[in-house]
This record gives sequence, C-alpha cells and structure tokens, in this order.
Amino acid sequence: MRLLVIGGVAAGLSAATRARRVDPSLEIVVLEKGADISYGACGLPYYLEGRVRRAGQLIVYTAEYFRQERDIAVRTGARVVSISHPRREVVLDGGEHTHYDRLVIATGARPRTADFEGATLPHVFTLHTLRDAERLKAYLRDQQPQRALVIGAGYIGLETADALRRNGLAVTVVEQSPHVLGRADAELTKAVRERLERFRVELQLNTRISDVSGRELVILATGLRPNVEIAAEAGVEVGRTGAIRVDEHMQTNLPGVYAAGDCAEALHLVTGRPAYIPLGTTANKMGRVAGANAAGRRERFGGVVGTAILNIFGMGVAFSGLAVDQAQREGFSPVSARITAHSRAGYFGGKPITVELVADAGTHRLLGGSVWGENGVEGRINVIATALHNRMRVEDLEQLDLAYAPPFSTVWDPVLIAAQQLSNKQRR
Ligand SMILES: Cc1cc2nc3c(=O)[nH]c(=O)nc-3n(C[C@H](O)[C@H](O)[C@H](O)COP(=O)(O)OP(=O)(O)OC[C@H]3O[C@@H](n4cnc5c(N)ncnc54)[C@H](O)[C@@H]3O)c2cc1C
Repeated sequence: MRLLVIGGVAAGLSAATRARRVDPSLEIVVLEKGADISYGACGLPYYLEGRVRRAGQLIVYTAEYFRQERDIAVRTGARVVSISHPRREVVLDGGEHTHYDRLVIATGARPRTADFEGATLPHVFTLHTLRDAERLKAYLRDQQPQRALVIGAGYIGLETADALRRNGLAVTVVEQSPHVLGRADAELTKAVRERLERFRVELQLNTRISDVSGRELVILATGLRPNVEIAAEAGVEVGRTGAIRVDEHMQTNLPGVYAAGDCAEALHLVTGRPAYIPLGTTANKMGRVAGANAAGRRERFGGVVGTAILNIFGMGVAFSGLAVDQAQREGFSPVSARITAHSRAGYFGGKPITVELVADAGTHRLLGGSVWGENGVEGRINVIATALHNRMRVEDLEQLDLAYAPPFSTVWDPVLIAAQQLSNKQRR
C-alpha cells in the first residue's frame, strides 16, 4: 500500500508522520516542489526582524531525518503537475508517473499578487516561504532601502511592518478596507492604529493601490489563494470558499483522496458552515487526521472557531469566533460588551487589557470575542476559544473558575468582567 502526500510543510508532513505511526508497513512518499521542507512559516517575520538569526533555525526536520527516523521518503524539487485518479497516479513536471493507493493533498496556498501592476519587479516581495524571506533579507542588506510600503493590514502585513520598522525603515501600511485584520471593529482598528503610530508606522485605510512599480520596497500582503488547481482538474470538489471541500475525516469527494491545511476548508463551529481560515495550527491538526485516515483509521477533525493572535510592537491582538457584523450576517442577533481592565495586579506590572465578547441576544450563546493589550492576551483568548468550542452561554462563562494570583491576573479576570457586563446587558 502506497501513500503519496503532495506538499512538504505543516499539513503534508503531519499527515505523513501520523500515517507512519498508524501503519508501520505503509510506503510513504512526500512530494514537495520547493527546496525546503518542514519549516515554520510563522517564524518568518522574526527572521526578517533579526530576532531569529538564521533561516535554518526555522527548519524543524530535514528530509534525511524523515528517511532515517520515520522511514518516510521526502522528495524536494518534485512538482506534481496533474493527478489521474482513475489510474491512481500523479505526474511530475519532468514527466515521471508515480502511483498511489491513497493520496493526501497538502498543497497550501499562495499570496494573491495578480491584481497588481508591477508585482514581478525586483523591489516587490511577498512573505510566504523561507525563500521569500531570504530574498527580502538580501534586498535589505544589498539595497539598503529607506522606506517600505506594505499593502494589506492583515496579520502578515502588520507583522511584516513591525519587522521592517525594527530594521530602521520608514513604513507605511495601506489597506483598502476601513479596518484592520479583516474585522469590522472600529475600536480594534483604533487600538492598532495608535500602536503603529506610536512606533511611527503610518496606516492608511480606505486606500487602494493597483500599481506598485516605481517605489522603493513593496510587500504584498493581500491575502491567500488556496492551491487547488491540480486537485480541481482531477475532479476534486472545491467549496464555495474556493478551497477544497472535505468532510470531517478530511476526505474529499474522491475515494482514498484526502486534503488538509491551507488548500482545504474547515468547518466553522460557530456558523456551522465551511470556512477558509488558513492557519498553521489548523494545518497541523487537519494533516494529522488526514494521515491517520489515509492509513486506515477513522478519526475526525472537529473544526475551527477562527482563533488568531499576533504581536504588533509588543501589543498582543487576538480574536476568536465572530465579530458583531459577521454575527449579523450569519443571522444571529448579536449583543456585545467591551471592557478595559488590568491584565494582572498593578503592583505586578499589570497593563490595560481590553476584552470584547459577542453573544446571541436570544440564546445567550457566546459567538466571539477579541482581546488586546501588552500582556495576558493569549490566556484570555484561549478561554474564549474554549468557550466557543463548547457552545457556552455567557452565564456559563461568567461562572468559570479561572486561575488567580496577583502576578498573573486580577481577582476578577478581565474575561469574567466582560462576561458580567454582557450578562447585565442581556438581562436589561
Ligand atoms: C509570514 C507568515 C506568518 C504566519 N504566522 C502564523 C502564525 O503565527 N500562526 C499560525 O497559526 N499560522 C501562521 N501562518 C500560517 C501557516 O504558516 C500556514 O497556515 C501553514 O504553513 C500551512 O501549512 P500547509 O502545509 O497547509 O501549507 P504550506 O506551508 O503552504 O505548504 C504547502 C507546500 O506544498 C507545496 N506544493 C504546492 N503545490 C505543489 C505541487 N503541485 N507539487 C508539489 N508540492 C507542491 C508548496 O511548495 C509548499 O511547500 C503564517 C504564515 C506566514 C506566511
């Protein structure tokens, strides 16, 4: 029995590793078109910044490690150009045909660059792969640009802006929508803007740029497009989000063919519908399930609630679930409360932390939340994410026995204060 995996980063290698655990006798081959495998793209902004000194530090395992320790063959420079499911084979760009019994598609996504005039010019970059980061680093070193334009105020744009500013460049972030991070939340946008301005990064909202030629350094960070083409041509169904449709077992519509990671949809547990929220945490989990099932198990991936966190000049910004406008669009009647409290006792260096909770007015079910501040953000958003996973109501959240001692929190945790405020509103 032969398992082929297309894609050698988070989802693909999680799938291969898990499949090996499940079935020691399986033949497993990973095909990766690039030169690098098993690297943490999430660390790229910190490599750009200089905190991570060598690109190699981001590489978790080598192909040699996979061969020796896990009996998994990882081939780099192996681009799959087509899949023939009736023949159970893939074709590589050199013309080689390779057979599979089971297939995991983990082809990831690519940055959207097509809409820009001049996108291929040498001063225009994306930050998606290890090679992108190395090229950008070399450009900074050799060309010594003084200013940079970052297009897109999503998390990659904002993290890149932070990294470039810390390299001494004058940075402007432009965003076509009126808000940042894809969340229509004026308070969140204001907090991010203030943070950026404090570190002398300019944020221009409602600004659309289509021509990037004739500038010093441009970073395109305008979102991702899932790599679904070879799958779609082979008859794999693509969902409304544009990513590969999978069931909870990560199985596509073709028997024996699985998909995982940034190329696939995931069930959103708050809306109950498929969503496209490409993140490393999800890619690893999906890959694990795809690999287990491709090797003969019947495991399931529960879904996502859209939890994300980033650091902007020392301020953590995180959210999970739905913002008010998204909740409205999904047919809920959202009610929300936002508080600013202390992250921990003042005499332990507590800093302001803002927590917003969104719930459905009718059922009191928690629908989402956001948190920002200089410390304690990760713990609070993870409580909110857990509550969302468990479909908790605000009154349940209010009762949670959360940890308290002065170095960590305040006696009323900010999440509990926000839950109380929301409860009060609901009672009115
Ligand atoms: C700058 C940056 C910061 C990030 N920060 C975070 C973070 O803080 N937290 C978080 O959760 N996520 C973060 N992410 C997202 C995370 O890195 C991705 O979600 C994750 O890498 C997706 O893994 P994947 O295996 O699905 O896809 P990828 O990592 O894109 O890997 C897919 C692989 O498939 C290969 N491939 C594609 N087509 C073919 C083909 N036809 N033949 C052979 N090989 C092919 C590609 O070359 C690629 O190596 C970040 C991403 C970036 C770029």
